[in-house]
Amino acid sequence: MAEKCYRSELIGLFGCPVDENPTVVIMEAAFKALGLNYRYNTMLVYPENLETAVKSLKALHMKGTHITIPHKVSVIPYLDRLTDTAALIGAVNTVYEDHGEMVGENTDGKGFIKSLEDEHIKISGKKAVILGAGGAARAIAVELALAGTRKIIIVNRSPDRGETLVKLINEKTTAHAEFTLWEGCYNVDEDTDILVNCTSIGLYPDTNVPNIDYNTLKFTTVVCDIIPNPLHTRFMAKAQACGCKTLDGFSMLINQAAVSFKLWTGIDAPVEIMKMAMMKENGDL
Ligand code: NDP
Repeated sequence: MAEKCYRSELIGLFGCPVDENPTVVIMEAAFKALGLNYRYNTMLVYPENLETAVKSLKALHMKGTHITIPHKVSVIPYLDRLTDTAALIGAVNTVYEDHGEMVGENTDGKGFIKSLEDEHIKISGKKAVILGAGGAARAIAVELALAGTRKIIIVNRSPDRGETLVKLINEKTTAHAEFTLWEGCYNVDEDTDILVNCTSIGLYPDTNVPNIDYNTLKFTTVVCDIIPNPLHTRFMAKAQACGCKTLDGFSMLINQAAVSFKLWTGIDAPVEIMKMAMMKENGDL
């Protein structure tokens, strides 16, 4: 009789609040599909317990964890090291074990880039406009710059965050970045190749759309929304009405999870199965 193993490899999700985060659905579907003896555990970690929780990763022999609000920045001092991109972005959404070390990585922007690549959208030499300058915008701007984007315009309501992100891109990457203060309605330059909504505008149950002049959108601009829920945002519908190709936040969500999955298991994630599992969970199937 073959020797049995009753221990599962453990992955966490540390957040606060975290109860409503559905990532466990796609991860467990992926483990099951590949016959992996892994468990994904959604864990409520209060800020004052974050250090203890991170130390427990080694104590419990865990493969790693996802990190979500409000810990993406505050987790950094408790890790053994960061990848170069996580260090640039200044935030971590994935921790993985590498030769006994707990390494911080950020897969949000990588998931976004993968979504563009899957649709054969060229990044190198292009001009991107990013609405927002929060954590997700930071990850996406850095990854776009590293992927060869020529020019990045950061459009944000509050100048501090926008200018900080522009400085980061200009000082640490080869891309050229500029800041535009978002006051009133924003006109999209006609030579914009990629426009990304990185604000939280439109996230369920919000039905608002970013305040841009949709008449200035050219059909040659690829319009991306990173809002994962709802699947089809009003922002995307308005861009489609202008003839633009669109990309949704759901594919970015799945792709960032897929990158993390590979870091934990060493195996390519079954992306289509993960998509189906989430769509079923959301009642979209
Ligand atoms: P942050 O809170 O860090 O940033 C929010 C950004 O939205 C800021 O730039 C903020 O501007 C801007 N913003 C919010 N409300 C308004 C408004 N009414 N008008 C203009 N600007 C506004 O959030 P994150 O960057 O972490 O997340 C942003 C969104 O991205 C969330 O909805 C999240 O669900 C989604 N997301 C999706 C992922 C995916 O995989 N699809 C992954 C990660 C995030 P200001 O600086 O002026 O406050």
